[in-house]
Amino acid sequence: MTASTAHPWVLGLTGGIGSGKSAAAERFATLGLEVVDADQASRWVVEPGKPALAALAAHFGQGILQANGALDRAALRARIFADSDERLWVEKLLHPLIASEIAERLRTARSPYAVFVSPLMIESGQYRLANRLLVIDAPRELQVARTLRRDGIGEAQVEAILAAQTTREDRLALADDVIVNDGSLDALHAEVDRLHLVYLSLAGTHS
Ligand code: ADP
Repeated sequence: MTASTAHPWVLGLTGGIGSGKSAAAERFATLGLEVVDADQASRWVVEPGKPALAALAAHFGQGILQANGALDRAALRARIFADSDERLWVEKLLHPLIASEIAERLRTARSPYAVFVSPLMIESGQYRLANRLLVIDAPRELQVARTLRRDGIGEAQVEAILAAQTTREDRLALADDVIVNDGSLDALHAEVDRLHLVYLSLAGTHS
């Protein structure tokens, strides 16, 4: 008998900053699903010992490394901030590595289905990895208030991040399911639990 190569069914999970997508992802994890986080994947590929970190150091010099050999993200950001050629170079290096890291983790997930959470699901085209897309939506004022509270950054910075993200309309246009996260955390969890039953059934009939 050959080993099964069937890919697990994948739920894509996204939402604007402060919408509550991490809170939703945590609930899916509590329900026993494997959660693959695109933000984490972008850190895994530059861990010490990974070829991408050596490539970055060869290109930009040791100044982008911390004393312990880990990537100094602030130093790298400073190098590419005002230089679009350098930024493109880094993106060309890292994006395929991040994509294959994500694909591999989704492929090997052992739960009834896998949850792939990404803040840039739409912008990056990553939604194509998902069988179904769940969007967490929240009124803009709530997004801003939650992010201010969580990150302790200024309102102007939150507004700048919001402006750089895809529009609510684009996100909602691609959504199969939407949770409007404008109530309590318990209400969010209840909605996740309800959809989880739908996803179990969809994943069960997926071959
Ligand atoms: P995102 O990952 O979409 O940026 P988070 O899930 O981190 O957003 O939520 C932003 C902040 O708001 C977090 O501190 C989170 O705990 C909180 N939060 C999210 N949803 C709710 C809710 N329904 N009620 C209260 N706090 C919430």
